[in-house]
Amino acid sequence: MGALGENDPVPSQPTATSEALFARARAVTPGGVNSPVRAFNAVGGTPRFVESARGAWLSDVDGNRYVDLICSWGPMLLGHAHPEVEAAVRAAVSRGTSYGTPTVPEVELAEEIVARTPVEEVRFVSSGTEATMSAIRLARGFTGRDVVVKFAGCYHGHVDALLASAGSGLATFAVPGTPGVPASSTELTLVLPYNDPAAVTAAFEEHGMRIACLITEAAPGNMGVVPPAPGFNAFLAEITKRYGALFVSDEVMTGFRASREGQWGLDGKAEGWVPDLMTFGKVMGGGFPAAAFGGRAEVMQTLSPVGPVYQAGTLSGNPIATTAGLTTLRLATDEVYAHIGEAAETVKAGVRDAFDKAGVAHQIQAAGTMFSVFLTERPVTDFASASTTDVAAYAAFFHAMLAAGVYLPPSAYEAWFLSAAHDDEAVQTILDALPDAAMAAAEAQS
Ligand code: PLP
Repeated sequence: MGALGENDPVPSQPTATSEALFARARAVTPGGVNSPVRAFNAVGGTPRFVESARGAWLSDVDGNRYVDLICSWGPMLLGHAHPEVEAAVRAAVSRGTSYGTPTVPEVELAEEIVARTPVEEVRFVSSGTEATMSAIRLARGFTGRDVVVKFAGCYHGHVDALLASAGSGLATFAVPGTPGVPASSTELTLVLPYNDPAAVTAAFEEHGMRIACLITEAAPGNMGVVPPAPGFNAFLAEITKRYGALFVSDEVMTGFRASREGQWGLDGKAEGWVPDLMTFGKVMGGGFPAAAFGGRAEVMQTLSPVGPVYQAGTLSGNPIATTAGLTTLRLATDEVYAHIGEAAETVKAGVRDAFDKAGVAHQIQAAGTMFSVFLTERPVTDFASASTTDVAAYAAFFHAMLAAGVYLPPSAYEAWFLSAAHDDEAVQTILDALPDAAMAAAEAQS
């Protein structure tokens, strides 16, 4: 674990250890966390309570310092507390934090998103969940149809209709994926295996004229990174069009992250197809709660107040969040993506080398600058193959990396995120930690 350097932020007086804070948190919050994956359930142990972060580094209340490979689960593309983002946010806060009226930064952020992506119009919300939920309502309202198609292993937030597990057959309707979701919320959802055009074709042949939309992660990152097979997204764009359904590409994770133009910049742009609707979040909020859905003007104009499909939000387009997002996107130049891409290549090479030497079977998979590591012999193309990853070996690897000062996602099924602030020192810290951690994984292999 790295000691605090002289340029690191000085932590305010720690009030307690992570251990003690976790006990306090569990007494007042389910599992002690406000989003389940943070609880370390998948790897065991106590989550570290982070007190401050700067650049590529997290500092916890226990006085430890870690290279951050979570980056707030994607948003922190420029690293933590970027001086220009911080200055813009401070200036915005001094002008008041929320008015419930239109503001300048939301227009400018919408213009920036429209300039970088194929969407013609965009509506802001506060979370990725809200973005996908609203996109689906809009698709249903626009088409006058009810059925939604999604893929197993793709996560689109905790929307009732999308917390669904596959039914008994390929083209049978889904069942709730969690208690609390009524069967009536998932009985219009079809869940298909990812990267499987035959399954998609069968579903459309049977239900095509009832399908409002197909939603997919542009490149899934929520079962670990599972890139679309070449041409798969183009096929989805084509088949939805053929049946008069909308193609909803969820770029909450990949947007402004996989590349400057998200996953679409890596496939759709060159292949010449455009989703009807897209969803964004994470990077576009610059670390604040902001997300969006957007698409063709004809579809977006179906939204209230222009059209009949209702959607709204008290804090939607909040001036602080949109200022942070706008400043982040303006600073996210080609050089930033090139730097993150190079750092990712160096880390991936180190991971490959360490696991090879330790004799641990692994797959490293990427979507642009996003990547993840599966501890399995099988190529990973869908949720079933992703599920073959050795979670016990990952847990051992995770804890060895943490002890060496590297904070990985505390789950074997997550993307690793780097930032513009991951400099040589941060990357070297990761590389130095890998060999022993890979040996720990080898010992824990199940
Ligand atoms: N869509 C994708 C692809 C995501 O990765 C996520 C969150 O990880 C969401 C939607 C939901 O976003 P939020 O957590 O902001 O509700």
